[in-house]
Amino acid sequence: MLQIDAIFSDYDGTLSPFAVNRDNALVPRPLYKTLSIVSKKIPFCIITTKTVNYIQDKIEFCKGVAGIGGLEISIGAKMIYPSVSSHTRKSILTVFDFARSVMHDMKDVLLEEKKTAGGELLGFTVDWRLSKNWDSYKEVVRPLIQKSKRDGLFVLTYRDHPFFDVYVKKPDKGKALIKLKKELRINGNILYLGDSENDSTAFEKSGVSIGITREEVKPLLNCEYLLPYDNLNAALRTLVKNNMIFDPVLLNLKRNSTYDYTSDKQ
Ligand SMILES: [Mg+2]
Repeated sequence: MLQIDAIFSDYDGTLSPFAVNRDNALVPRPLYKTLSIVSKKIPFCIITTKTVNYIQDKIEFCKGVAGIGGLEISIGAKMIYPSVSSHTRKSILTVFDFARSVMHDMKDVLLEEKKTAGGELLGFTVDWRLSKNWDSYKEVVRPLIQKSKRDGLFVLTYRDHPFFDVYVKKPDKGKALIKLKKELRINGNILYLGDSENDSTAFEKSGVSIGITREEVKPLLNCEYLLPYDNLNAALRTLVKNNMIFDPVLLNLKRNSTYDYTSDKQ
């Protein structure tokens, strides 16, 4: 049996409900209470593509938060930022202004800034999920994607999802996990919770990986275990009762049939 020494988790869709207004997505009360109990026993951290400010407004007991996919890391009063050239800093501002002008009249497109706690723009998301015709917007945003790439920015597009992200450099949740682990001097096993493909690198770097599932979406998750969102609170409560000793049967976890159990981790 494995002792869990820390829990790291994604936020959007993993702890917060999926199909709600993304700006107001809160962790349901019972789950929030359980996480707060967990945080009194072992370190609890968030690794998210949202910003540190967004998370700190919603959860007050995190030991550390990696925001913008790990491009900003907050541990207590300490903030860690990546080195970004002045050219790239200018590029993201220029491209963001361009995006704002292109999207100006489009009421059903959301332009979400990803600003650090210090106010610096490190990325943005263009999201047209509220529009009726997702395919037509793919054409509208194409010049913006091309300009972002030309200007040396990192662009993340998705096969099915009606949005794309632009960053000053490639975000990596796995690297963020390692950084938080080192900064917090955690030597033991980290349990990681995530719900989408962008959690892959963090799943790889964790000791125990659990994918949170839902009926609505079926992403390919490279985690060892699967757990329906509605059962997450009960599983975490059981883990607390079991003194943080991990037992997949007790926690009611399903083995992930698409996971390669022969690959080496860490
Ligand atoms: Mg997520």
